[in-house]
Amino acid sequence: MKKNTFAEMQKIAFMKALKNARGRDRGGIQKDMNPSGFVGLARMYCEEPDCCAREVDIRIKEYDENVSALPVCPICKKGLKTHAVYVVGEKREQIHG
Ligand SMILES: [Zn+2]
Repeated sequence: MKKNTFAEMQKIAFMKALKNARGRDRGGIQKDMNPSGFVGLARMYCEEPDCCAREVDIRIKEYDENVSALPVCPICKKGLKTHAVYVVGEKREQIHG
C-alpha cells in the first residue's frame, strides 16, 4: 500500500475538519442564517521555520461542498496545517480539530 505524503496527510486532516464542521452545521447552527450553503472559518497554521506567517484564517463560503484543495500559505506557498474549522456562530473554544 502506498504511503501518504505529508501534503496528502495535511489535506486529509483539512478535509476531515471541514467535513466535521459541515456535519455540525447540519445540526442547525446556520439553518436560519444560511440555508443554501456552508459558511465557516478555517484556522490554519504555517509550520515552515523560515516563513514569517504563522496563523492563517480563511473565511469559507461554499455551495455543493466544493472546497477540495489543501490551503497553502500566502507567503511561502507550502501546505498549511489545520488547527480547526469552525461554523459561523459556533463557540470556538468548544471545538478542537
Ligand atoms: Zn508560510
